[in-house]
Amino acid sequence: PSGRKHFIFYNPPIVNKPLNIRRSATLEVRNIAGEFLKNKIQTIVFARSRVRVEIILTYLQELVKNQLQNKSIQGYRGGYLPKQRREIERGLREGSIYGVVSTNALELGVDIGQLQVCVMTGYPGTVASAWQQAGRAGRRHGEAVIVMIASSSPLDQYMIQHPDYFFSRNPETARINPDNLVILVDHLKCASYELPFKQGETFDGVEIEDVLEFLQEERVIHFSGDKWYWMNDSFPAHNISLRSASQENVVIIDQSDVANVKVIGEMDRFSAMTLLHDEAIYLHQGIQYQVEYLDWDEKKAYVREVDVDYFTDANLAVNLKVLEADKERMERTYSIGYGDVMVSAMATIFKKIKFETHENIGSGPISLPEEELHTNAVWLSFEKEQFNESEQRLEQALISVANALQSIAPLMVMCDPSDLHVVPQIKAVHNEQPTIFLYDRYPGGIGLSDKVYEQMNDVLNQTNQLIVNCSCESGCPSCIGMEAQGEYAKSDALVLLQQLQSR
Ligand SMILES: [Zn+2]
Repeated sequence: PSGRKHFIFYNPPIVNKPLNIRRSATLEVRNIAGEFLKNKIQTIVFARSRVRVEIILTYLQELVKNQLQNKSIQGYRGGYLPKQRREIERGLREGSIYGVVSTNALELGVDIGQLQVCVMTGYPGTVASAWQQAGRAGRRHGEAVIVMIASSSPLDQYMIQHPDYFFSRNPETARINPDNLVILVDHLKCASYELPFKQGETFDGVEIEDVLEFLQEERVIHFSGDKWYWMNDSFPAHNISLRSASQENVVIIDQSDVANVKVIGEMDRFSAMTLLHDEAIYLHQGIQYQVEYLDWDEKKAYVREVDVDYFTDANLAVNLKVLEADKERMERTYSIGYGDVMVSAMATIFKKIKFETHENIGSGPISLPEEELHTNAVWLSFEKEQFNESEQRLEQALISVANALQSIAPLMVMCDPSDLHVVPQIKAVHNEQPTIFLYDRYPGGIGLSDKVYEQMNDVLNQTNQLIVNCSCESGCPSCIGMEAQGEYAKSDALVLLQQLQSR
């Protein structure tokens, strides 16, 4: 049984008309969730990033500190230790915790009983995710309220203006690429644990002898007679994430108390570059820590508790080059390719952002080595001469179109926006043409950019629609983003898109 659910789609008011900027979704969430919590109504708040979770948690704890006990609102996300997580889950079930602010870590499988209200900070990215988050409220009896609060992002604005899309659309199909080497190796580990592989055997038609020999060298399985046997004590499935193919985490060590240095969490390497660099403010359960030293080789971040009025936000410079093209075709106005790419990412600088006002109050450099990701991408290139304005305006138009594509492409191939990334280049290394890349954000790729390759014309068409239908005058966060400035920003993006659309 499940009780009635009330869905409220809430669009914050516009505070800057010319720029079409709306009041911050984070601050609106604080007010709306805070109202429920002050009345002791059990509420779960979802946010898309770990940093956002901690900021909202800090706001809510501050807001209700006179009415509720300190521990009655908690954060919950990847990176907390298992013991801490179990305590929070129990507190929610027993009702000693009224509020929890979470990433999608609480979407699946974890028993936290039934809550009355679910507040989403922005559209979670997929229909499946949104239903799972909504399902955290009112699971068995009684009515529940689900509030979705839109940010200014194009995807959020699309959803808030088309609630029928959300209610009528089937949840996304799960997508996995079983030939992805990282995934295949993990599958073979689990399979070997169940049953030894025999020489000459295939795995769903795939030749696997090379991989088995690799695992043998890694001393995970061992060869005897004509079979490979599992030879490890551990249960392999435990170490395999269902969400991501990346491994190797950075451990976070709190040294505030010299007599009691302790591990408080962990984080994947790619995220650590922008969240755990030297001087970063790391928020954990609403407590602020400053990173004193990130030991990149040892994968350890040493932090100390601080009390400051800002958080940090780091820039990641991304470079991308084509290693091998598997498919290519010519459309009337552009060429399109698909294949292997190397993405390298480097954290460059960070900004200090003041709480409440969100103003920029300082910055600093980050010195960390480049990280590489070998994956699949689709790329669209065209002749520079197709765009009649200056190179500078072309570059801006490329960035604008890329920003809009970043919202539309995941919607079209039905994946989470963070699974597919867009990179514009004014002069790509492999063909020296203006190019827009879309790449799978997983080692080896999972088939998303391949799907974009098939649907590029539709994707461009929808991207054009998004920008045309936006009510702003010359570009805003809800269509082309804020990088391109000036009166031509929006019209240039449209000119470029119309140039590209082959009929
Ligand atoms: Zn706009």
